Amino acid sequence: MRPTKAIVSLGALGANLKAAANLSAVSRNVAVIKANAYGHGASAIARALEPDVDAFAVAFMEEAVALREAGILRPVLVLEGCAQRDEVEEAAARNFWLMVHDRRQVDWIQAARLKKPVTVWIKTDTGMHRLGFDRNGTDQAVRSLAESENVRSSMVLCTHLSCADNPDSAETRRQITEFRTLARAYSLPVSIANSAGILFWPDSHADWNRPGYMLYGNAPGGSSEIGAAGLQPVMRLSSELVAVRHLASGEAVGYGQRWRAARPSVIATVPIGYADGYPRHASDGTPVLVRGQRSPLVGTVSMDMITIDVTEVDGVEVGDPVELWGSSLSVNEVAACAGTIGYELLAGLTGRVPITYHP
Ligand SMILES: *Cc1c(COP(=O)(O)O)cnc(C)c1O
Repeated sequence: MRPTKAIVSLGALGANLKAAANLSAVSRNVAVIKANAYGHGASAIARALEPDVDAFAVAFMEEAVALREAGILRPVLVLEGCAQRDEVEEAAARNFWLMVHDRRQVDWIQAARLKKPVTVWIKTDTGMHRLGFDRNGTDQAVRSLAESENVRSSMVLCTHLSCADNPDSAETRRQITEFRTLARAYSLPVSIANSAGILFWPDSHADWNRPGYMLYGNAPGGSSEIGAAGLQPVMRLSSELVAVRHLASGEAVGYGQRWRAARPSVIATVPIGYADGYPRHASDGTPVLVRGQRSPLVGTVSMDMITIDVTEVDGVEVGDPVELWGSSLSVNEVAACAGTIGYELLAGLTGRVPITYHP
């Protein structure tokens, strides 16, 4: 069996949820586990979190259905709401909470024939300009849905911040103020904060928070400084060296001969590649831990393998442990070397990497 695997610490997950809860003691938490729980395995993560959260959130209906099929009982907020008219009935029957971001979804809910009413969150656009109603649209949606027998009285008014990972963002301050002003017209519970809001914007803490990335132990905004918030990376992506060779000065490594040895070099091969979700854009110098020692990736990332310059690692041999990211090497740092963010690397881990869960 290939030694490449993702090792997930459920203890770290629990600690991160506590950190989120401690930062905002007044708020209840919807744990965001969309995209296969950011690559960590949605059903296992949901099972581990279920005793300690009030609800889960996913992006769309199929993700919510998969949680029910895995035996998860808590409410599941569907962040994009229904994509089709006929999904409203299933959402109500399965106790999904539906985000409503446009008039079409309001119409579907009003027209549905439901055995029991559905819980609705109304999305207001305060500047993300992706989904949600403007001020008038929000007003109409609140009124229409409040009158509908198909809707539970416990509606929530929600917005999403576009720049909260920048702690100095004037735009975030504006969005929070605009939303709070709007929300004053309704006596509804409200929800604003994602992880960045929870970590950097106390004013965004509200009745419901929606932590995602931070639950997995990483700081949004690309920082690899997570200690202050008490976060612990949940995933360790690990493997072992499967080959070690000596190159003379001037010899090249990998496809296209992107990297060429400037001195006699020791090159080690690790069986992970872009088909596993390791980023193909990782540049020469991207750190990899070999025997716990930071070593530079050299040469183009292949589909199934990468190559590392281990010239500086003493006593290196086949079978030595490798960490691609985890608690000793931030996924944000690796992502930065590939021109992306840690979210994309975690969510992009593919199904061929087995995940093992540790307490
Ligand atoms: C993904 C998402 C979240 C969670 O965001 P993080 O940055 O991962 O905490 C919260 N709310 C909405 C609407 C989202 O789409």
